[in-house]
Amino acid sequence: MIKIVIIGGGASGLMAAVQAARKGAQVTLLEQNEKTGKKILATGNGRCNMTNLYQDSSCYRSENPAYPWKIIEKFPLASTLPFFYELGIYTRDRNGWIYPYSDQASSVAQVLEMEARHLKVRIKTREEVTDIQCLPEGFQIFTKTWNYPCDRVILCCGSHASSVEGSSAAGYELAKKLGHHIVEPMPALVALKGKGNYFSRWAGTRMEGILHLEIDKKITCKERGEILFTDYGISGIAVFQISRYAVRAISQGHTVTCHLDLMPDFSREELSRFLKERQASCSYKSMKELLVGFIPLKMISVLVPSKGTLEDIVSNIKDWVLPIRDAWSLRQAQVCSGGVDTKELNENLESLLHPGLYFAGELVDVDGPCGGYNLQWAWSSGAVAGKAAADASDTERRSL
Ligand SMILES: Cc1cc2nc3c(=O)[nH]c(=O)nc-3n(C[C@H](O)[C@H](O)[C@H](O)COP(=O)(O)OP(=O)(O)OC[C@H]3O[C@@H](n4cnc5c(N)ncnc54)[C@H](O)[C@@H]3O)c2cc1C
Repeated sequence: MIKIVIIGGGASGLMAAVQAARKGAQVTLLEQNEKTGKKILATGNGRCNMTNLYQDSSCYRSENPAYPWKIIEKFPLASTLPFFYELGIYTRDRNGWIYPYSDQASSVAQVLEMEARHLKVRIKTREEVTDIQCLPEGFQIFTKTWNYPCDRVILCCGSHASSVEGSSAAGYELAKKLGHHIVEPMPALVALKGKGNYFSRWAGTRMEGILHLEIDKKITCKERGEILFTDYGISGIAVFQISRYAVRAISQGHTVTCHLDLMPDFSREELSRFLKERQASCSYKSMKELLVGFIPLKMISVLVPSKGTLEDIVSNIKDWVLPIRDAWSLRQAQVCSGGVDTKELNENLESLLHPGLYFAGELVDVDGPCGGYNLQWAWSSGAVAGKAAADASDTERRSL
C-alpha cells in the first residue's frame, strides 16, 4: 500500500487526502493548527464561495498561463459539484457564484474532514512540518516532535496571505530547500493605495463603476463592479479583481494608474446632455446641487472642482484618474499571486526534480479573481495531486 503524507490540512490538502485514500493509499495529513480547514471558515465572509458556474482558462492566472487550465480540466466544475453533493453539500447559486445551501463555510470544512476520517486518513493536528528529506526509496517528513517515512508527499501549505491562523510562508521554504524556484509571492485580491491628499473627503462611499487599469500609459484590463472609496485610495470587488496586475506592475517599477468611470450606464454625451437639461430646468441650483440624487454627497465634493465647467465635471465622472502608489500587504490580502514555479511540475503537479513530491493549492503559482476561483483551484489541484500520488501503476512504472 502506498504511504502518502500530506502537509497542510486546508482546502487542497483535505481534497488531496480524500482522493488519495479513495484510491487505496494509506494517508497521513499533518496540520500545524489545532484543527483543519481554518482558512475555509473565513471564505466568502463565512459563507464560502466554493466555486463559480462560469469557468474558462482566463479565470486562472500564472507566470505559466497555460498550466492552470490543464489541471482544472482534469477535475473541473463538473466533477467538483457532484463530489461535494455526494459529501452532503447542496448548493446555492448567486449569479453563478456557488455557496453551500447552509451559507456556512464550516459545512464545507466539516464534510471534507468527515469524509477523510471515514476513509481512515490519519489526521494529525498541531504537527508543524519543519523539514523534508528525499531518500532513495521515498521521503522522511520531520515535525518538531516526530518523523514520518512515506513513499509520496503532497505539499499543501497554502500561502502567507491574510491573517488567518496558519497562513505561513513555510511551504515556500520547504519547496526551496528541495531545489524548487518560487515566483515571488505578492498580494492579490487586495486594496490599492492612491496618490493624493483628498481621500478623507470620499472615504466611506461605495459606487458601481468601471475601473480601467493603465500600466505605463496602456490600458491592460477593466472590471465593472462595486468600488469602495477609502481614506487611502480604493477597495471593493472591482479593485480586488485587477489588483494582482497592479501589484506586480508596481513591483517592477511601472507606472500604474486607475481610470474610474463612475456612471458607466451613461455615455459622455448622454451625461453632458442630462446635466445641461437639469441646469436648464433648475437654474437656481449650483453645480454641486445638480448632482444630488445620483452621485453620493461625499463624491460630489471630490468630483466637482471649485472652478470648472460642466464638461470638466463630466470628465471627472467618466474618467477619474487615480495614480496608484502601492497596495496593502500580504497580511491584508485575501490570496497571493506567485508560488512554486509550475515549469518545474508535470501535468499532475508532480515535481520534475523529485518524483513522488507533489504540490497543490495556493502554494503553487496560480491565483484567480474573486468568485470562487481560488477554492476551485484548491479543489482541482488537490484532487489531481491526490489521485496521481496514489496511483500504484505509477510506482511500478517508476521502479522499472
Ligand atoms: C478572508 C478570505 C476569504 C476568502 N474567500 C474566498 C472565497 O469565498 N472563495 C474562494 O475561492 N477563495 C477564497 N479565499 C481564498 C481561499 O481561501 C484560498 O485560496 C484557499 O483556502 C487555499 O487553499 P490551500 O489548501 O492552498 O491553503 P490553506 O487553506 O491556507 O491551507 C494550508 C494549510 O497548511 C497548514 N500549514 C502551513 N504550513 C504548514 C506546516 N509547515 N506544517 C503543517 N501544516 C502547515 C496551514 O495551517 C493551513 O491549514 C479567501 C481567503 C481569505 C483569506
